[in-house]
Amino acid sequence: MTTRMHVDLDALRTNIARVRETVAPAQLMIVVKDDAYGHGLEAVARTAATAGVTWFGAFDVRTGSAVRAAVGPVPRIFAWIAASRSELDEAIAADLDLGIGDSDLLEELAVAAQHAAVVARVHLKIDTGLHRNGVRPEHWSAFVDRAAALETGGLIEVVGVWSHIAEASDAEDDEARVAFEHAVAVARAAGLRPRVRHLAASAASFARPEFRYDMVRVGAFCYGIRSAGGPSASDLGVTPIARLDAAVTAVRGDDVHIALGGLQGLPTALRGRGAVVGTPAGARELRLVGLHESIVASWPGAQNGDAVTVYGPGVAGEVSATDLAELIGTIGEEIAVRVSPLIPRTYAGE
Ligand SMILES: *Cc1c(COP(=O)(O)O)cnc(C)c1O
Repeated sequence: MTTRMHVDLDALRTNIARVRETVAPAQLMIVVKDDAYGHGLEAVARTAATAGVTWFGAFDVRTGSAVRAAVGPVPRIFAWIAASRSELDEAIAADLDLGIGDSDLLEELAVAAQHAAVVARVHLKIDTGLHRNGVRPEHWSAFVDRAAALETGGLIEVVGVWSHIAEASDAEDDEARVAFEHAVAVARAAGLRPRVRHLAASAASFARPEFRYDMVRVGAFCYGIRSAGGPSASDLGVTPIARLDAAVTAVRGDDVHIALGGLQGLPTALRGRGAVVGTPAGARELRLVGLHESIVASWPGAQNGDAVTVYGPGVAGEVSATDLAELIGTIGEEIAVRVSPLIPRTYAGE
């Protein structure tokens, strides 16, 4: 075998169904940023679309265009990072919904829409405390007034109001929710009729029903990646869709070398943290992570070409991306997203 990430699209479908049933009647927007969290954008987007998902969260315009190419004209695709006029033009050409949290950008979008002779669909972003490119509450009223004027002028359609929360503490999230509801009320008073209000990502969408509103933006749980420090995947009812297998390239005494290192995305910080990986003989210690290869404690009969499962279902003891992440103080998404694009992804369940 060679080192590869094996992605189970049936598990993706099952997770999507689980997320949808949990958040209903709110809709699911599946977040596919960062190459669908490293699992491969095209296969994930197609699978989600055929499973009936109608909203995709793309992060940037480039990803949004790639999703459009993968899923065809019908699904709605939301991108919330656009900075330049050329990106706005591209977003309009790909028929994206745009998240706008800046008054200058709103003006530029109106110009771009006029130029293209279309009505641009926008979701206005209020900054509810995370300070990530949203409109500050003190500027919100003027912002929504201007949006209402542009809507009346036929240049934009305000489809939604949205924000992002830290999901770090319930108290902070509650404050953000109060600010969010106030912002929606101010938008309505300005004459806007936002049909999709969205605030929650994975963790809040499961744990806090009052954060679901009309739609939730879920990435991690669709991929079966649980939150660090949070409930287990089985408690959530989801399964990791990826298994990362590394090939044995040498057996030297008590050390087994595998073809996966820091430059392929396995954090070198995992050295000496007590991580275990799955071998044909069961769980073994991950002793060292080098740049191009790593070293695993040997097992009887180890030989070149054997597969070592670094994380994912099938490992003795079921090591997950989040299990590894917790050893080095990060999140499972980071482990998944770091796996080099040069490592082939293979798919089951297409
Ligand atoms: C990444 C992201 C999400 C999805 O977060 P998960 O915790 O992976 O579900 C939702 N909203 C925004 C704005 C994001 O950037």
